[in-house]
Amino acid sequence: MDNNTTSKATTKDSVTGSCLAIIRQAIAEPGLIHEAYSRFHGYSLRNQLLAMIQCVQRGIMPCPLATYPGWERLGRHVMRGQKTLVLCVPITQAQPETDDDAVREPADDASRVFFVYRSRWFVLSQTDGDAYDPVDVPAWSEERALKHLGIKIVPFDHLDGNVQGYATPEGNVAINPVAGLRHKTLFHELAHIILGHAKDETVSRSVREVEAEGVALFCCEALGLEGSVYARGYLQHWLGREALTEVSAQRIISTAHRILAAGVRRNLLIPLPGDAAFARIMQEKRVWCFLSR
Ligand SMILES: [Zn+2]
Repeated sequence: MDNNTTSKATTKDSVTGSCLAIIRQAIAEPGLIHEAYSRFHGYSLRNQLLAMIQCVQRGIMPCPLATYPGWERLGRHVMRGQKTLVLCVPITQAQPETDDDAVREPADDASRVFFVYRSRWFVLSQTDGDAYDPVDVPAWSEERALKHLGIKIVPFDHLDGNVQGYATPEGNVAINPVAGLRHKTLFHELAHIILGHAKDETVSRSVREVEAEGVALFCCEALGLEGSVYARGYLQHWLGREALTEVSAQRIISTAHRILAAGVRRNLLIPLPGDAAFARIMQEKRVWCFLSR
């Protein structure tokens, strides 16, 4: 090994060390869980199946369920001429029926519970609202990134509206149109695909979520997009009391680098994770410098 090689290796080690420190600091700073993970009522399996059957019969794509006022609260409007879906509702003497989204669980005294069918729900595809707006900031383009990565955005067809997005087995991404932070979900799901999480059963769910959200955190910070506080909250939730391993930290850095590099505009430079400049800017901004408190 010559001197030049040694100095390059030393520089790379110090950059890696800085990035690892940044990730650890990111984990230490308090985060929040976005309310978008609990906006929708958790329908029973029976009611989900009931909704699914009606969607298939009518040729509607199965997707998140809510009542007319529920969709209004989410800023979406049921389209004219749409027919309601029927769900099974438990009624008890102690819990009078309401017009709410929730299908209440029956009380302990089962002798007083009876079930009725009510017709008041609509799925997301029966509503109108803001179309998906691709991330388009001066330094980075979602369209360019997806093209270079060979990944497509496909329609969201999950019945649970609290799911923000998912990666499909074919390696594409679906994003809930009412996701709390669509760009953060995009980075998270792209990370799942690039990291090969769906194909590797040896990696636990918690490690997969920590790695994907770590990537989302880096991308939000590098592009100046909102969502870091929620990325930290989600990441800390899945990390629990475990320490972030060096292997995961390296995977987070290299994946964020790949996503950012795929969408970076040719005539603009942004600091990328893994670059000394990125580590320095993050530290200068004191974005995550709270570890020593
Ligand atoms: Zn995930």
